[in-house]
Amino acid sequence: MVSSWSAVVSGALRDDTLAAVEAVIQDVTSAASGWGPAGLNDGQLGFALFFDMASRLTGGHQDEAMVRSLMRAMELFAHDRRKAPGLHGGLGGLGWTALHLASRHPELDVEELCTEVDEALETALRAAGPHSCDLQASLSGFGLYALKRLPHPAGQRLLELVVDRLAETAEPAQGGLSWPQPRPYWRLHGAEATFPRGLYTVGVAHGVPAALAILAAAHRLGLAREKTERLLRGGFGWLEHLAAPEGPPNFPHYLHGTERFTDERFAWCVGNPGITAVSWWAAHLWAEPTWEARALHWASQVAREALERPSTRHSNLCCGASGTALLFLRLFHATRLPVFEEAAVRWVRHTLALRRPGEGVGGFLFEQEPTRHMPVLHYGAAGTALALLAAASDLAPDWDAAFLFSLQLPSS
Ligand SMILES: [Zn+2]
Repeated sequence: MVSSWSAVVSGALRDDTLAAVEAVIQDVTSAASGWGPAGLNDGQLGFALFFDMASRLTGGHQDEAMVRSLMRAMELFAHDRRKAPGLHGGLGGLGWTALHLASRHPELDVEELCTEVDEALETALRAAGPHSCDLQASLSGFGLYALKRLPHPAGQRLLELVVDRLAETAEPAQGGLSWPQPRPYWRLHGAEATFPRGLYTVGVAHGVPAALAILAAAHRLGLAREKTERLLRGGFGWLEHLAAPEGPPNFPHYLHGTERFTDERFAWCVGNPGITAVSWWAAHLWAEPTWEARALHWASQVAREALERPSTRHSNLCCGASGTALLFLRLFHATRLPVFEEAAVRWVRHTLALRRPGEGVGGFLFEQEPTRHMPVLHYGAAGTALALLAAASDLAPDWDAAFLFSLQLPSS
């Protein structure tokens, strides 16, 4: 693993990229204080991660804003009766962010807060379910918090529970094993959506690749080796069965039974850049040579495809060009293969081409509703700016593990 980080854009492109970042920092700073939601994806926790990076760029100027956002998030969660445990909108994200920031700012005492998060997640994992492999709200997201919590014994306990639930919910599927979405998750496809032959999601936000990443991390840590090995072989076998034998793998977004449904997005949440990048991180951690080589082949085919494909109308991390750029950027830094760098730079250019200085947040518009300002991390300007910052500076985007743009173990 190459650990040093450096800019992949230079000259005028780097100047434009950093100008966009600075404009977003300014606008997010004014938007953050009155922002209601707390979550990592849509609110104050995402701002805390954003200000932490902005502070590294500006020599500490956003440290206070970072602490303010973390405190505001804690306050909002304290008054939130639902206390959802999920990583991206719930308590898992509070714990993940607190641990992440405390590792850089030891003056932040987050132990009490994390003990509460541990308890909430353990309760959710011991409940009857339904359990999904979902990253944002269920098992894979709990797994990412558990990994962040290590070496604390609660991290180990939670990770074991996640592996147990993933083992219980796996079922035989063509090529190996897969994880069906429990009924409450069907509504992600619309309130009336119904999947009598079973819904199997391949996209990263809710689907199987994130589960494979957590299983690979557990396997690497020596946890339930036989069980995690069996699930990894099954899950990768299923993915291979879905991949086109030649050229780009063309993974579907989801399956209803064995019927494939594709989606035009070429992004993190949905589409082959996210699916193949997260599969590579999983295979790389698992360190199984055949699957690591196959996942690298899939990801590099998708990077070649990215050099030809037209841009998208979205700039955000989730469904848009900046997220696609960051996936390739991470793969480039981990593998040093030039095709990933080329793809990353191209999608940085696509991201900047969507910018309209003087409008939106730092020039970035929320495409679903252009009149609405969207400063947040996951589908707003903050995340777009952090992806751009990763392309134009020597600051490694370590916040991005919360979305599986990268995955490293605590000791690595
Ligand atoms: Zn999305």
